[in-house]
Amino acid sequence: MSLWTVTSLRIGELYLPHGGALLRDPVHVWLLRGDVGGKRLNILVDSGMADIATVHQRLRVTGTRGGHAALCEELAKEGLAPGDISHILLTHLHFDHADNLDLFPDACVVVQRGELMAAVDPVPSQRIYYWKSTLSNLTERKRPAQLRLVDGDTDFLPGIRLLSVPSHTEGMQVVVVTTAKGRVALVSDLGDHYRYWFPADLRATDRPQRSLTGAFITGNIRSESERDWQRAMQRVLDNCDIVVPAHDFRIPVRMPEQWYAIPESTADDLAHVPPPGAD
Ligand SMILES: [Zn+2]
Repeated sequence: MSLWTVTSLRIGELYLPHGGALLRDPVHVWLLRGDVGGKRLNILVDSGMADIATVHQRLRVTGTRGGHAALCEELAKEGLAPGDISHILLTHLHFDHADNLDLFPDACVVVQRGELMAAVDPVPSQRIYYWKSTLSNLTERKRPAQLRLVDGDTDFLPGIRLLSVPSHTEGMQVVVVTTAKGRVALVSDLGDHYRYWFPADLRATDRPQRSLTGAFITGNIRSESERDWQRAMQRVLDNCDIVVPAHDFRIPVRMPEQWYAIPESTADDLAHVPPPGAD
């Protein structure tokens, strides 16, 4: 069994309306590093969002960074350039998870076949989240060297398993990575924040809901039923040791060095947008 390390790269933030306030949602890409058959591989999980000016133009959402510059900057901090990335495992094809693919013309992009269909013909409420730039980049790629479509649960490489979890989108997948301390599930938008996974736990949320012990909070942006989504989250917990949500400030940056199933405090959960003029 190959052992991998996982690094969370924060490439920007989105400021999202929430109950009359604006909340900061960090946007991440994950870097997996390991050896397969004596060969060192650098793999990305998701490719992040476009630059915030483009996001604002398209969706009227504000935030920070994103785009090629931020992604290259975060890779450079790890001593890497885009050409060093061999594969990109996309959890789904929304704009904040699957942009910037043109930075990686030679990498092999891996996505569920059902998610490509969802991007072509999304549920009507999700049309704004699937961008044509993502689709055209995928369809221009050579098969199978630069694009690999998978169907359902897939043992992708030793120590990297893809779990098919239709929920937020029709072809959503979670990447489960084996490290020296156990299995990390990069859960993406199956549960953006720890409070969705552990809604009754005081470490995950300052508003614990005891009535939700043993249950999950699911998202409003969805293609599947509540029951399917709850089942998907339980299946992920049954197949990993820790979950790493996509849009929580408290996720570990380096795994397995940092290793926790639930954060130690609620500080930085529901972080508000700083007032104008603040840094
Ligand atoms: Zn999404």
